Amino acid sequence: MSYFRAIDPFPLESAEHNRLHEFYARLGEGRLSTTRCGGCGQTAWPPRVFCPECGSDAFTWTELPGEGVVHAFTVQETGLPAGFDAPRVFAIVKVDGHRIFSILVGVDPARVRIGQRARLTPLRVAYDAKGQPRWLPAFTPAG
Ligand SMILES: [Zn+2]
Repeated sequence: MSYFRAIDPFPLESAEHNRLHEFYARLGEGRLSTTRCGGCGQTAWPPRVFCPECGSDAFTWTELPGEGVVHAFTVQETGLPAGFDAPRVFAIVKVDGHRIFSILVGVDPARVRIGQRARLTPLRVAYDAKGQPRWLPAFTPAG
């Protein structure tokens, strides 16, 4: 796949660009995690370096389950970013009370159902400018 930086839709995940790089490193190991506020103890989704509840910028990492439930989904047929094959199923997967906007992979779009269980399947996307892999949260529905 060719890689066009000018239209790069993915976040910079490296430690030098992103205080949340740990999220992507863990995702690359197949683990879903998020931040827990060091001030009030709230877990956030998406991971945050600043707590909107109490204003603290102290946080620790906490693991989330690797499985959730399809809460909503839509199928995109055209106009996908470089490197994505159509059709692409975008979904909100509910994991431990958090609504995670993600992609469903390894699925026939006609067979996706609300309430279906889905397992974390991190999706490797375009390498960054230094050749490091980058990851997005994705899920594979069960059954
Ligand atoms: Zn807080």
